[in-house]
Amino acid sequence: MPASIEDPGVLLEVRNLKKYFPIRKGLLRKVVGHIKAVDDVSFEIRKGETLGLVGESGCGKTTAARTAIRLYDPTDGAVLFRSHANGSGDGEVYDLATLPLREMKPLRREIAMVFQDPINSLNPRMSVSDIVREPLRVHGLDLGRETDEEVQGLLSAVGLRPEHMERYPHEFSGGQRQRIGIARALSLRPSLILLDEPVSALDVSIQAQTLNLLQDLQEEFDLTYLFVAHDLSVVEHISDRVAVMYVGRMVEVAPKRELYTNPRHPYTEALLSASPKPDPRNPTVRIPLIGQVPDPSNPPSGCYFHPRCQYAEDICRTETPPLMTIGEDHASACHFADKLELQGMQ
Ligand code: SF4
Repeated sequence: MPASIEDPGVLLEVRNLKKYFPIRKGLLRKVVGHIKAVDDVSFEIRKGETLGLVGESGCGKTTAARTAIRLYDPTDGAVLFRSHANGSGDGEVYDLATLPLREMKPLRREIAMVFQDPINSLNPRMSVSDIVREPLRVHGLDLGRETDEEVQGLLSAVGLRPEHMERYPHEFSGGQRQRIGIARALSLRPSLILLDEPVSALDVSIQAQTLNLLQDLQEEFDLTYLFVAHDLSVVEHISDRVAVMYVGRMVEVAPKRELYTNPRHPYTEALLSASPKPDPRNPTVRIPLIGQVPDPSNPPSGCYFHPRCQYAEDICRTETPPLMTIGEDHASACHFADKLELQGMQ
């Protein structure tokens, strides 16, 4: 059974979240349809864990994550967030989906984000010191000299030196720039960080270092992560549980080891088969994902994955499979989740 926010160990519960973008046409900009970027998605994140949210480009994972922290206004659904999870306070639960924006501001201190592109996410005209302290300034917490020490401490925590404070983003490598973005995200001591493809733009050798750093910081700063990635091999290292999305819907969610060794949805199986293998003597058969993710404004009937699924049967073309619990903490949205013998990683 999935946990809910009634459990004090749960930091965030997303219930039936929807985010539709209107399609407008003509002189009067009439709404002629909707792009269902996120369509009835539910998940929870426990305090101190990392939930990996995975799928190909256009599957809705980034929109789901950004809507869950109210960077986009949801079309429908609830986002229940436990405040003060890291410090003093009563652990009150707020519905971020319906909270008036002025009441969101204090909660913004508890939720931070690290962006994919470390070049464009940093203002080139600001020094590293100004970038890292900017969130403190916005919240009226920049205390001058005292904050200098705080910034130095944050830079040291992410592996940068005090003399880097007065330099500018262009003077750093991609990996160092991402470390600056991470230091900025930590400045308000959040409890939850949305990591939006934080290593996708980095060289492979730097990716591993950044992932290790994120793991160390998670322990040091008592953090909970929602980690968005298009590649299962990236989230394997860092996630406790993994959720797979396809055309705006959740199709499988399970603890990491269970999902990688015993996938119960053909889409997860195909994504796993495309991941680089740690042991070349133990190869898996590559399952080609033919075609693109369907257009979310005009998805296929029945199971959205059926045009690309090698196991599809008649029922798949007409009936939409719900996300069903099929084992402890494991859920899949496939009519044949119990019957198919799918290939995982060893
Ligand atoms: Fe494939 Fe049918 Fe399962 Fe969809 S419901 S994933 S089409 S077998």
